[in-house]
Amino acid sequence: MVDEQVAIVGGGLVGKAAALALAQAGLSVVLCGARDAAPPPASGFAQRIYALNAASRQLLQRLRAWEQIPAGRVQPVQAMRIAADGAALGFDAYAQRVESLAWIVEADAIERALDLALRFERGVRGLAGLVVGARRGEAGWELDLDDGSSLRAALLVGADGRASRVRAWGGIGLRSRSYGQTALVCNFVTAAPHGACALQAFTADGGVLALLPLPDVGDEHQVSLVWSAPDELAARLREGTAEELAARVQEQLPLLDAQRMAPLRPAGAVGAWPLLLQRAHSVVGEAVALLGDSAHVVHPMSGHGLNLGLQDVQALAAVLGRRAAGESPGAAQVLQRYARARAEQVLAMQLATDGLHRLYAPGLQWLAPLRALGLSLVDHLPPLKALLAGYASGRSVLS
Ligand SMILES: Cc1cc2nc3c(=O)[nH]c(=O)nc-3n(C[C@H](O)[C@H](O)[C@H](O)COP(=O)(O)OP(=O)(O)OC[C@H]3O[C@@H](n4cnc5c(N)ncnc54)[C@H](O)[C@@H]3O)c2cc1C
Repeated sequence: MVDEQVAIVGGGLVGKAAALALAQAGLSVVLCGARDAAPPPASGFAQRIYALNAASRQLLQRLRAWEQIPAGRVQPVQAMRIAADGAALGFDAYAQRVESLAWIVEADAIERALDLALRFERGVRGLAGLVVGARRGEAGWELDLDDGSSLRAALLVGADGRASRVRAWGGIGLRSRSYGQTALVCNFVTAAPHGACALQAFTADGGVLALLPLPDVGDEHQVSLVWSAPDELAARLREGTAEELAARVQEQLPLLDAQRMAPLRPAGAVGAWPLLLQRAHSVVGEAVALLGDSAHVVHPMSGHGLNLGLQDVQALAAVLGRRAAGESPGAAQVLQRYARARAEQVLAMQLATDGLHRLYAPGLQWLAPLRALGLSLVDHLPPLKALLAGYASGRSVLS
C-alpha cells in the first residue's frame, strides 16, 4: 500500500492537467489511467479538435504545456459568426480588444504537451492501470487497480469522464438527459481560405452545424466539422461515405454564408458522439472531488466542455494550494470551497447551451422572426456582445 495526498482517476485531458496543477500546488499526486497520447497523424490533423478559450490557454501556459504545442498545430480564431433564421451575430477579436477569440487545437496535441510537462513534474506518479474498485477507509480512500496493485489517498479526484465510476463510488447522484442528437465530426479541405473565422448555424430541424478553422498546410485550407444532427439523420449520414457527408454539408454552406468554401473534400474519417446534458448532484462528496465530464457534460454548440473541465482544475488547484497548514486535502470544508467556486459558471454554461438548444427546437418555427430579431439586436449592441464574448473566454474566472 502507498500513501498519496491525492489520487486522480482518469488520464484524459482533464486528469493530466489536474495532475500537473495539483503537483505545482505542492501536493503529492498519483494519476491512474495515465497513458501516452497518440502520435501526430502522418498528414493533416486528427479528428478530435477543441476550441480553447483564453482561461484554458492561460492555465496550459501556467502548467508549462502550451509552449510544447507546435505553433503549426494551433489556429487562432479571429472572428466568429452565428447564423439562424436568416439573421446573424458576429464577433471579432479586434472589436473585443483581445488577441484571439479562441484557439483551435487537436485533443491529442494538447495531451502530448501535457505528457511532456508531466515527465518533468516530480510530484506526480503516473500509473497506466485502471481503477476497478474503491473503498472509504479511516484515513482516506483505498483503491484497487486492474493490475492487482492497491494504493491509498486522502482525496479521490474523479476525472474519469461522463460514465464516471468515482462519482458512483462517492455516492454522488446524476441528472442526465439525451439531446436526441449525435455530433458528426470530420475534417474537410476547402476551396477557399476560412479567414480564421469559426462559423456556426442553427438548422431548421434543431441541429447545429459548425465549421472550425484549422491551420493551413502549405496552400491547402482545412476546417473541422461538428454537426450536431438529430439522431435519425446522423444515423443515415453515418451509413454513407465521408464524400457523401461532404456533399450534404456543402448543401448547407449558404446557411453559414460560406458557399465560397465549396467543393469540400474529406481529409479523414467521420466520427460520431451521442450528445447528453449531464450534471452531477454535487461536484464533491466525502473526500471526493469531480472534474470535467464526470461532473458536467454540455452540448458542444458552445465548444465549452473541456474549457469548463480545465477551469475546474484551476479552481481545485487554487483551493487546495490555499488550504491551511495541517488541513487535509480531503477535508469537507476545503472541498466545499471548491464546490462554491464552480457552482455559478457551470450552471450558467449549462443553462445557456440548454436554453439555446430549446429555443431553436424544430417545433418552435413560429418563433423564427422573433429569434432573428433578437439575434440582430444583440449584434447591434456592442456592450452585450462584449459581455457574451468575455463570458465565453472564461475571462470572468481568470485569476
Ligand atoms: C463533438 C464534440 C465536440 C466538442 N468540442 C469541444 C470544444 O470545442 N471545446 C471544449 O472545450 N470541449 C469540447 N467538447 C467537450 C470535450 O470533449 C469534453 O468535455 C472533454 O473531452 C472531457 O474531458 P475529460 O478528461 O473530463 O473526460 P474524458 O475525455 O472522457 O477522459 C476520461 C478519461 O478517464 C479514463 N478512465 C475512465 N475510467 C477510468 C478508471 N476506472 N480508471 C482509470 N481511468 C479511467 C478514460 O480512459 C479517459 O482517458 C466536445 C465534445 C464533443 C462530443
